[in-house]
Amino acid sequence: MSKIRVLADHVANQIAAGEVVERPASVAKELVENSIDAGATCITIEIEAGGRRLLKVSDDGEGMVRDDAVLAFERHATSKIRESEDLAAIGTLGFRGEALASIASVAKVELTTFAESTKAATRVTIDGGRMRDVKDAAHPRGTTIAVRDLFFNIPARRKFLRSEATETYHLTNLVTHYALAHPEIAFTFVNNGREVVRAAAAKDLRERAFQIFGAEFLENLLEVNGGDARVARVSGFVSAPRDRRTSRDSQYLFVNRRFVRDRMIGRSLSEGYRSILPHGVYPAALLFIETPLDEVDVNVHPAKTEVRFRRQAAVADAVREAVKNALASGGYAHPEEPEERIITATATATATASTSPSSQVTPIQVAPPQPRIDFIPEPSGDEIARDIEAMIQTAQQYQPRSDFQSAKSVAFDSAEKLPKPPEPDSLSGNIRPLGQLDESFIIATDDDGLLLIDQHVAHERILFDKYRALEAERRTESQQLLVPETFDLTPAQAAVFDDIAPELEVYGFELMRLSGRTVAIKATPADLPAGEARNMLAELLDTVDAEKKNSARETLRDEIAASLACHAAIKVNMPLAPEKMRWLIDRLLQTSSPTTCPHGRPVILRLKTKDILKGFHRI
Ligand code: ADP
Ligand code: MG
Repeated sequence: MSKIRVLADHVANQIAAGEVVERPASVAKELVENSIDAGATCITIEIEAGGRRLLKVSDDGEGMVRDDAVLAFERHATSKIRESEDLAAIGTLGFRGEALASIASVAKVELTTFAESTKAATRVTIDGGRMRDVKDAAHPRGTTIAVRDLFFNIPARRKFLRSEATETYHLTNLVTHYALAHPEIAFTFVNNGREVVRAAAAKDLRERAFQIFGAEFLENLLEVNGGDARVARVSGFVSAPRDRRTSRDSQYLFVNRRFVRDRMIGRSLSEGYRSILPHGVYPAALLFIETPLDEVDVNVHPAKTEVRFRRQAAVADAVREAVKNALASGGYAHPEEPEERIITATATATATASTSPSSQVTPIQVAPPQPRIDFIPEPSGDEIARDIEAMIQTAQQYQPRSDFQSAKSVAFDSAEKLPKPPEPDSLSGNIRPLGQLDESFIIATDDDGLLLIDQHVAHERILFDKYRALEAERRTESQQLLVPETFDLTPAQAAVFDDIAPELEVYGFELMRLSGRTVAIKATPADLPAGEARNMLAELLDTVDAEKKNSARETLRDEIAASLACHAAIKVNMPLAPEKMRWLIDRLLQTSSPTTCPHGRPVILRLKTKDILKGFHRI
């Protein structure tokens, strides 16, 4: 007996829904895209209970005639493409013709729509993929789709939905993205009857960003304007180097006005900041890439969040150059490529690569033509100091200027001799600081050889342990600010702020929610420079999203302590007095894990005396 059968339409639709409809925000995405494609000038999104009970999108777009309103729910029914050739140049956000069919198969949907050419509006009701009713209704030009009880007929999927706060957070983020991508459209977002976003039609991105994020956000941004129309035009805003984030969450990337997640663009963006921002720190960005339609394939992912460029490398170059130029015109120019020196890059890069496979190999760049080594005048260290200097200079002589790959093989002659993170219990108390390399790494010796200590992460580890200990003993200290600093939350940050604020206060923050989305910082934890408080809050609210907020309180507190430590710690490129170096090393040795920072990066690298001797052919 044959065993293969063609699935019924409603089953096929539910399967497609598995890819298209992951959560309420993905429903909202499809509906908002449809409204934009319909030429709406005004879009309203209303949600109840995190979009599970109700998710309603209304627009004033072109609407549909009755036959279309019914057909729209068929699988692969679309007005946007006709032939397979059309796939080569997609100018609309939708084209797959499966969103409405998928959504209607897993929820109770009511669509009301009116196209000007017709006499009456149409209302179509469809539950779990079954058409219930089609009748006349009243509706101004445009379309309203109400999606109720998402996943009511698929309990397994319903179980996977997160808390109301989490789903609301994702929805808010989504609305923010589309509002930024389409300043010309008015957006309103209403959560449980409360208006969260209201943005009137704006004349450009700057005005829209102002409506959504507030004046202060804009103040720190540099305008990007570059690329060329044949490959890719790049426009938007990027943050000034002083505004730092440790995740990519504040990067909003769009390709032909479609919000995308794209590793390549993210990487090119970071490359634009190369040697301005340290490794592991990300800029904030609102970047719009416009390419000719046939230069980009958007039919890569069912949710259409990924794209593929025909000329990937050229787009990457355009993004990097545009970002570099924006930085240069903001006065943040850095030395031109040929003058850059790469020094001991192999050492650090290999060590990080071995501890965290995902981390990228990024050379450490030193701007001045000679390596800056500041030695403490200490007789006992002199000899070793000269050796190190010789070693570094020898290594440097052989280094090609910018080709990191080949530098790797000649810097030291074998990988075994590269400095590695030491075993924690091999660290004796007998560590003697000699000086600083590039005002960023402490050079020290101990009984086993030479140590390089990353001053920023070392201090981070010390502060992390301190903050955690004080919090555990309920002894956190704060410093009152003479003049409270104000801080504008983005809508997404506002969605999590109230829940996270009490945890922040545990650490010594005193925060007050003022009107709208403005927060006043009245006091900050001891050790945290006042100027860093805002950066830290922004970053934390972006990364500790609602997901983590619901995770164990301890995890959240660790996260806050790590973020505090990172912002309060001394930075790289900072000269340290000998006493300060000694203090750092002594305190580091007393911490719970002197060799790794709270984020898991190495703090210390060691080059064994034995390997130094081998390197000089002495043994
Ligand atoms: P797609 O957007 O990929 O074409 P959808 O399933 O999202 O597929 O929508 C099917 C069709 O329904 C669209 O092609 C469009 O013609 C019509 N449609 C959907 N939403 C709207 C809307 N808000 N206004 C006007 N027409 C719409
Ligand atoms: Mg669509």
